[in-house]
Amino acid sequence: MLNLDKSQAAFTEAKTLMPGGVNSPVRSYKSMDCDPPFIDHAKGSKIYDIDGNEYIDYIGSWGPMVVGHAHPQVVEALQKVTEKGTSYGAPTLLESDLAKLVMSVYPSIEKIRMVNSGTEATMSAIRAARGYTGREKFVKFIGCYHGHSDSLLVKAGSGAATFGVPDSPGVTKGTAQDTITVPYNDMAAIEQVITEQGNEIAAVIIEPVAGNMGLVLPKQGYLRRLREITEQHGIVLIFDEVMCGFRASLGGAQAAYGIVPDMTCLGKIIGGGLPVAAYGGKTEIMDMVAPAGPVYQAGTLSGNPLAMTAGIATLSILTAAPEEGQPDFSRVLTIKTKQLLLALQNAAKEAGIKIQLHQAGSMFGLFFNENPVYDYETSAASNQEAFKVYFKAMLEQGIYIAPSQFETLFMSGAHTSEDIAKTIEAAKIAFKAVADFLNK
Ligand SMILES: *Cc1c(COP(=O)(O)O)cnc(C)c1O
Repeated sequence: MLNLDKSQAAFTEAKTLMPGGVNSPVRSYKSMDCDPPFIDHAKGSKIYDIDGNEYIDYIGSWGPMVVGHAHPQVVEALQKVTEKGTSYGAPTLLESDLAKLVMSVYPSIEKIRMVNSGTEATMSAIRAARGYTGREKFVKFIGCYHGHSDSLLVKAGSGAATFGVPDSPGVTKGTAQDTITVPYNDMAAIEQVITEQGNEIAAVIIEPVAGNMGLVLPKQGYLRRLREITEQHGIVLIFDEVMCGFRASLGGAQAAYGIVPDMTCLGKIIGGGLPVAAYGGKTEIMDMVAPAGPVYQAGTLSGNPLAMTAGIATLSILTAAPEEGQPDFSRVLTIKTKQLLLALQNAAKEAGIKIQLHQAGSMFGLFFNENPVYDYETSAASNQEAFKVYFKAMLEQGIYIAPSQFETLFMSGAHTSEDIAKTIEAAKIAFKAVADFLNK
């Protein structure tokens, strides 16, 4: 048995200080009926709690830690820059350096604005699209999460699925009424909405690879058709690649599927573990943003030198030219992820259970569902009790996965073949436990 005494005491105290004991809901493990480990430190592929337990980490701070925890290049760069002061509230060369690095991999971004969170990026992108088109409504897809700003917190995926709250109290009807929601991967549904209300719609925002209702991939041709129909109606197409950026492929879902959106939101990885996100896109849209244009958006700590530095260091590792004849960083992650998933599929089969395994580059996810998962409804139909058995068995064996099957898991550059082998052995035991549970 894992000893979590110190974590349990810490959680008891934290619950008197913060709602549910946490500063972000899914960290509480509430839906898993157990207490979360409190983390002391992390290095490479491993994370360590305050009771001294070691785990192989597939959460990666919910996506950002693609090069592994405390990567020496990132740590060194941060130490150096910290000596020079932690914030100036004035322009720096670092901001242009990160902008150039991002734009070199995302050519659809002609101009970019750095912000502090994915929530800010999507909220600001919608505002810019509204300012640009002079229209008020926008479309989002059921089960896609775009941060917690009011108008985007409608039918918003994993948090909702895990906690059974479809829409959040505190979001007014007035705010929600400009948000049109349609099922993911349902071409007829979006075509109908655009045919009927196209000239009132400023933007369509989508996770082109959806990671917040579990990992759900776009159907063949879906994104292409979405691009066509939005273009025909003068609607700004926003790809929210906060999660799938630098993950689905180095150039994100847009490179993987060959689609050019009008705007892109990035986050998670571009901050290398510090709070950074960004939105960007066509110059004519981005020049609507203040001070170039009238659409207001600002931030005291936006473009913070430490945050830019962590982002630059991380993206430099991701974009470095590989040694001759070797696959590049992203390709290696994709191969490692595929190896893990093949073994997991076999292990599930051996245990006699049917699961759905999805992969996009270094993102992966597993559903305890016998049927294909392609939207919110099919995702939510997965067996939560079976997942709970699996989750606990994995944690017990030192494998740190998200406490919800409606979250995506991540491979990092630091995961070794030994880590992967250990994970597979743990999964064999966990799948057996699930099979026993299901047959009982
Ligand atoms: C994480 C995430 C966000 C929100 O980013 P925060 O930094 O948590 O505000 C937005 N969109 C997507 C697709 C995300 O995965």
